[in-house]
Amino acid sequence: MRIVLLGAPGAGKGTVARLLSSRSGAPQISTGDILRGAVESGSPLGRKAAVYMDRGDLVPDDLILGLVEERLRGRDCEKGFLLDGFPRTIPQAEALGGILERIGAGLDLAVNLEVHRQLLIQRLTTRRTCSNPDCQEIFNLITKPPAGGGKCTECGAPVVQRSDETESAIATRLDTYLAKSAPLIGFYEELGILFTSRSVTKEDSLRDITGALERAGGASS
Ligand code: ADP
Repeated sequence: MRIVLLGAPGAGKGTVARLLSSRSGAPQISTGDILRGAVESGSPLGRKAAVYMDRGDLVPDDLILGLVEERLRGRDCEKGFLLDGFPRTIPQAEALGGILERIGAGLDLAVNLEVHRQLLIQRLTTRRTCSNPDCQEIFNLITKPPAGGGKCTECGAPVVQRSDETESAIATRLDTYLAKSAPLIGFYEELGILFTSRSVTKEDSLRDITGALERAGGASS
């Protein structure tokens, strides 16, 4: 399966991508996770990206596009991939089209996770993330709390609030989504591969997506 996940911050792209990835073996490719890993390591890319990320703004394309192409050329992507957080703008979607043409692969589905703004804000303010760049498990103070002492249940590293999960950065991220990323829904609708899920729980979203994939004939590819 070759899928892109669309949806506002907090819509559940990362959670759904992880579940689909563990079921199918296709890797989850999260540009947010890759960038946070770069910030953590203090690399030149990470230092440049952190300025944008902490404000809730998009990182410029010249920092992102090469990174995505290199990742998609990885051997593990022969099984397919789940793109989570990329593309985020129409130019990025066009660039992705070019990358896939060079690789000789096409998308099966663009999944749009549609969630109310009020619920998004509630999820984002209570979200916590594992600080280990190789893990980045997602927690929620209400629905999925970390282990005692604020530790990750998967790897034991401290669980933290992301630096872009302040009230003002959250507002910027939601506004940026509406202005720059929401138009992707129309873009993929025109390509005839859009599927929208309005489910609230991850189980329901997963069931919706699995059904859509079967209809698209991509479940086993
Ligand atoms: P969310 O979807 O919850 O906002 P992500 O982890 O996907 O979180 O992204 C966090 C931040 O990383 C974004 O606010 C942005 O600064 C940067 N980022 C991630 N993916 C992209 C992308 N495709 N283009 C530009 N910036 C990106």
